[in-house]
Amino acid sequence: MATPRLFLDSPLHEGAHIELGKEACHYILTVMRLKGGDQVRIFNGQDGEWLGELGDVSKKTAILAVTRQVREQRKTPDLELLFAPVKKTRTDFIVEKATELGVSIIRPVLTHRTIADKVRVERLMATAREAAEQTERLDLPDVEDAVSLEKVLKDWPEGRVLIFCDEAGDNPGEDWGADAGRAGPLLEVLKTLDPNQPVSLLIGPEGGFDDKERTLLRSLDCVRPVSLGPRILRADTAACAALGVIQAVIGDWSLTPRQ
Ligand code: SAM
Repeated sequence: MATPRLFLDSPLHEGAHIELGKEACHYILTVMRLKGGDQVRIFNGQDGEWLGELGDVSKKTAILAVTRQVREQRKTPDLELLFAPVKKTRTDFIVEKATELGVSIIRPVLTHRTIADKVRVERLMATAREAAEQTERLDLPDVEDAVSLEKVLKDWPEGRVLIFCDEAGDNPGEDWGADAGRAGPLLEVLKTLDPNQPVSLLIGPEGGFDDKERTLLRSLDCVRPVSLGPRILRADTAACAALGVIQAVIGDWSLTPRQ
């Protein structure tokens, strides 16, 4: 069995002794059935990955002695996922997969056709943490509160590119069509970007974007409308597919596991 991994929000250095909280204890003692003297790998998003040894263990508490560093911290690419929340399990799926695929920021965005009425950020953070522990990441993505599409666009940071996945493709007969920027294949659009430019990806709700949103998005200089091919993908599929292509072309997929 691989040595279990845990995210801990504590400074990690040789000789540190960390008292594990309730959730960590449950995972380590009940789920993984570890005992005093067993090893755990730990990370906190800043100090790389460390080995720790379980000391005193009772039913609900455990002390972990940090012994040595096994990996140095590495920066995750500045890649943000903006997505319109969908049904609960599919939203969880998007957060889990986006974390595995290496995004640094996850932000639910409320569009005109978003159907989810509530976004439970705490729950999404827990999903992201579990995915990061499992996937050998050295950090967690920031999971932000839900915000309206209009507000995101109003506060858009200078120099950041917004890859807008637009299922409507590129109809030159529409207001948002040819005059307002063409929706090119994702791969071709990525090739035109400066590799150091921070990137955000925007995925719409199951009902898609409406024409008002599409017109606004296509009028902005930071926006690159893209197509993900001839099939209309579900929002969760679209997010995974686009993130995979982005990571392969301008992200960190030149690295190998655990690098
Ligand atoms: N109801 C919409 C329709 O039938 O045209 C489909 C919306 S789709 C289920 C959800 C989101 O996934 C879209 O808003 C878009 O961001 C993305 N998406 C799905 N397929 C796509 C494609 N072929 N090209 C670009 N984006 C796509």
